[in-house]
Amino acid sequence: MSQADNGEAHATHGRDTRKDRLEFNKLRKRVRRQMGKAIADFSMIEAGDRIMVCISGGKDSHAMLELLISLRSSAPIDFEIVAVTLDQKQPGYPEDVLPDYLETLGVPFYILEKDTYSVVRSIIPEGKTTCGLCSRLRRGTLYGFAEQIGATKIALGHHRDDIVETLFLNLFFGGKLKAMPPKLKSDDGRHVVIRPLAYCRESDIAEYARAMQFPIIPCNLCGTQENLQRQEIKGMLTDWERQYPGRTETIFRALGNVAPSHLLDQSLFDFQGLKVEVDDSLGLPDIRVVNL
Ligand code: SF4
Repeated sequence: MSQADNGEAHATHGRDTRKDRLEFNKLRKRVRRQMGKAIADFSMIEAGDRIMVCISGGKDSHAMLELLISLRSSAPIDFEIVAVTLDQKQPGYPEDVLPDYLETLGVPFYILEKDTYSVVRSIIPEGKTTCGLCSRLRRGTLYGFAEQIGATKIALGHHRDDIVETLFLNLFFGGKLKAMPPKLKSDDGRHVVIRPLAYCRESDIAEYARAMQFPIIPCNLCGTQENLQRQEIKGMLTDWERQYPGRTETIFRALGNVAPSHLLDQSLFDFQGLKVEVDDSLGLPDIRVVNL
């Protein structure tokens, strides 16, 4: 049995009470259901797709890959999964961890090696956040490889909380009302990116990853701090959630419930054309007090 088919056995290792097992099964069902719904709602996967699943080594991409493999076994359509990870040559990168793990999953996988770490270090001054450039270089390499292997979709492990954080990042720092789409065509029109975990809560994914004991590789080997603006937004949302439980979910639902007529973007709504038909023959009454 491959590791991906073995979710329950894995999760119960070291968690041996019946309650723990029940809780885990509930969690697994929930994240699988949410992923299935997101995939269906946005037509993320079609028959014959070759999905390139990008694995960073973090909890989110591990969970996405394992859940996609599990979903495929019961899906009514046929699609391929190819796992791809990029070794960016950060000092201390444990290069055997992912190949050893991916070997157990029973899907094709590729380890790309590219020293983007040195490029980033040579361009960004000491003390400045490197994540922006690092992510762009990573994306470029991965998208290029997707083309080489004929991938029809590229799957990324962003979840509901990433989407809400991005909304506020764009709102507070970019003056734009935009989040992170569950499905997207890249700017050059050559790739379709999907985010199957779009409906899943980060706390669920973190719990799932803990229970599954995925071999996590931290994203701080480069020695930089995670994007500070994002951390700030994360802190704000965590405080809100503590004070008003459910607020993040409410904000997330609002993203699927947009009223362009109640915003100010003239390209989304024809404010110029707003008119009502009136009867031209009507005049103003001569009296001042009107009993209705
Ligand atoms: S933490 Fe380091 S490796 Fe991760 S995205 Fe930022 S710069 Fe890149």
